Amino acid sequence: RAKSEGRDTYRFYEHAMGLEARSRRIMEHELRHAVTRNEFHLVYQPQKKLDNGELIGYEALLRWQHPERGNVSPGIFIPVAEDSGTIVPIGEWVLRTACQAAAGWKSNLMIAVNVSAVQLHSMNFAQTVHRILLETGLSPHRLEIEITETALVRDMHRALTTLRQLKALGIRVAMDDFGTGYSSLSNLRAFPFDKIKIDGSFIRQVDTNEQAATIVRAVLGIGRGLGLPVLAEGVETSGELSFLAKELCQIGQGYYLGRPSPLDDLQEDDIQAEEKSTDANAA
Ligand code: C2E
Ligand code: MG
Ligand code: MG
Ligand code: MG
Repeated sequence: RAKSEGRDTYRFYEHAMGLEARSRRIMEHELRHAVTRNEFHLVYQPQKKLDNGELIGYEALLRWQHPERGNVSPGIFIPVAEDSGTIVPIGEWVLRTACQAAAGWKSNLMIAVNVSAVQLHSMNFAQTVHRILLETGLSPHRLEIEITETALVRDMHRALTTLRQLKALGIRVAMDDFGTGYSSLSNLRAFPFDKIKIDGSFIRQVDTNEQAATIVRAVLGIGRGLGLPVLAEGVETSGELSFLAKELCQIGQGYYLGRPSPLDDLQEDDIQAEEKSTDANAA
């Protein structure tokens, strides 16, 4: 009995693996055509100063509207696009679309764009970014590239070379999802970051959970010591916001400060002048 159960389990496993591999192959194929089929769009999530609520810019986030499956989460399709290499042309589309949008804003708000490891390590990445800036007319100082630590550990030397090329163009670089992933502290020393984004998992209940609070205070201390502004991701409540403002975290992003929205839904005021007073600041 145990034997047959084992075999059934094995068969089930094999079957599940087969389906998994097959649906991955299908998705890889679909992703290859998604750009030309106009299935992608970007949404923009505000980043705000926590002392006065001032809007400083937006992070562009990729959305895939699949013709049958509907909205597919980036958490699902980005890893597939990375494994198959299609993230390179997709990422180029993201950069061009985001830079084009920001170039059309009347104010000088910044635009943050996520770049994955595969992209960062692709041929002539800095040159591609440079070309996109020239094409769209966006000032390099308004572009910030967000990189997770996984992108750095693949090939530290090459990553450093590319980051230096980007910095030489005047582009800023933010470390995304800080605190998750690999050996954050040595990476902060080795790479020329301009901003630290603390992962949202540390912000959740930071106002009520002493452990979370201790970790966030420590990261803020590192930022202060290194002279790097810290952005808190995933701010969802007024309690979290007041804690962060009180601890002198400079910038926040999260549903409480603003949801990601399509370009057309961004407040006209936001993308024109920034004298508009927001009610984002608690403290
Ligand atoms: P990320 O760069 O860390 O982006 C932040 C994620 O947190 C976004 O998820 C955003 O919608 C979500 N978020 C924002 N505020 C809150 C909040 O208050 N609470 C919670 N629970 N979540 C919040 P999204 O859009 O699903 O993207 C997930 C990840 O996919 C991103 O994490 C990023 O790593 C990746 N991604 C998204 N767009 C791109 C892209 O264009 N290129 C690349 N390479 N990766 C991308
Ligand atoms: Mg990001
Ligand atoms: Mg993040
Ligand atoms: Mg993330």
